[in-house]
Amino acid sequence: MNDILILNGRLIDPLSRVDALRDLLLRDGRVAAVEMPGTLKGQESAQTIDAKGLIVAPGLIDVHVHLREPGQTYKETIATGTAAAAAGGYTSVVAMPNTLPVNDTPSKLDWMLDAQRGSVVKLFAMPAATVGSMGETLTDFEALRKAGAVGFTDDGKPVLEDHVMRAALIAAARAEVPVSQHAEDTRLTGGCSMNAGPMAFRLGLRGMPIEAEARIVERDIQLLREIERAEGLRPHLHVQHVSTARAIEAVRKAKREGLHVTCEIAPHHFALNEEAVGDYDTHAKMNPPLRAESDRLQMIEALLDGTADCIATDHAPHAPFEKRQEFERAPNGITGLETALGLALRILHRDRGLPLSRLVELMSSSPSQIVSLAGRGSLAAGHYADLVLFDAGAEWVFDATISRSKSRNTPFDGSPMLGKVRYTICEGHIVYRG
Ligand SMILES: [Zn+2]
Repeated sequence: MNDILILNGRLIDPLSRVDALRDLLLRDGRVAAVEMPGTLKGQESAQTIDAKGLIVAPGLIDVHVHLREPGQTYKETIATGTAAAAAGGYTSVVAMPNTLPVNDTPSKLDWMLDAQRGSVVKLFAMPAATVGSMGETLTDFEALRKAGAVGFTDDGKPVLEDHVMRAALIAAARAEVPVSQHAEDTRLTGGCSMNAGPMAFRLGLRGMPIEAEARIVERDIQLLREIERAEGLRPHLHVQHVSTARAIEAVRKAKREGLHVTCEIAPHHFALNEEAVGDYDTHAKMNPPLRAESDRLQMIEALLDGTADCIATDHAPHAPFEKRQEFERAPNGITGLETALGLALRILHRDRGLPLSRLVELMSSSPSQIVSLAGRGSLAAGHYADLVLFDAGAEWVFDATISRSKSRNTPFDGSPMLGKVRYTICEGHIVYRG
């Protein structure tokens, strides 16, 4: 028997509309019972966790991570990246396909999802939308879906051509999964390394205009409209790492219109603005780039008002020698799995009053629905025993040197965090204890 009894915690389960003291019994990897405190008796064989003072929530789900395996295991492996995920309170992550080789066939997908890779949490993947993520020929959506794909994306690059994106949305609608779009009109961003604006001007760097993001989001929304009208299908567009006010406004309008659009916001886009680039700090270089303060504030508004569907980290590990280069040469991306909850609790919950139930929705139940992870994102009886237990009031400082990730490329080293993960439990197994 490996029963676990979790007593006296404050259960926050938005999908069950529960925010109250509850005891939980976990059995055989599932939630066996959720009861009023003190009523789960006679479980003497169970391991007991006293969750007094802790939030008990469905495990966090990240729909956007880069685990670098196969091909770049000096940056991260599936084992180290998912260990960082567990430390951050995550129980499920969705790996992006820009590995070497690109994940674009069922056999590559099988290899990644194989238990031998040593994933510490539940691993899902979005294979490439086009062969080699070259933007030309669609991959075999049907075969990949059967092999476990939870969506399709060429992340790192956009699906740029209108006719290719149109075909991808149609094929994904038939497979009942989203196309996740990295919205960047790369015809506007060649040679750019940060946001266009006074800061880029001061540093003498070429800046990415906000139009580069907005134009792709607006084009994709127009494609949804046309496909609904012409094909009678209802494609699902998921916009990755939205960073500009103009793009989020396009998403807001499309939702009002009833189109099936969801979007994610990365913690760095609500935590930092372009000023963080400072003196050419490559740990503040990512794509999309850190934007103007007015954009950052609009990301927070979108998280508060429901326009943003989820928080996704875009965890993107890089080795020190890669980030220790001239700003323009350094690769894009930062690690994010161990800092997402601490930043969200501090900036969104404490500073801006985002209710804890909405925070759990943004980081667990809503992402589980975006990629249709059956049995996850809720702790109702019968669901997988995927949980995070955290102390929402604990203040701490992130120390990148003790990160579980193989990489240390984060602008949040030494930053204050709120809310400490005490336990992460994945399918009934304790995978992290803090
Ligand atoms: Zn991207």
